[in-house]
Amino acid sequence: MTRRQNSHSALILDSVLTCPHCGHSKREDMPVDACQFFYECESCKTLLRPQPGDCCVFCSFGSVKCPPVQAQRQCCGEGLGAIPADRPQVT
Ligand SMILES: [Zn+2]
Repeated sequence: MTRRQNSHSALILDSVLTCPHCGHSKREDMPVDACQFFYECESCKTLLRPQPGDCCVFCSFGSVKCPPVQAQRQCCGEGLGAIPADRPQVT
């Protein structure tokens, strides 16, 4: 097997997005360090948006979660309350 390994723990950078309206699916590349919020279905032209709680269209409609989620990093998400505890505490 010649699977290429990144320095990251093998993130998957492509995802098959499936339109919830018409069922059309298309393979798309995912940006590593950003999240895609809008995606227009090329078949029915519906503008897809993430579902509540998801950070991007790949998390909602893709076959694979977006790279930041795969890496369990915080991405663009709205969850500002969920700041990691490794932040230095100033006393
Ligand atoms: Zn569609």
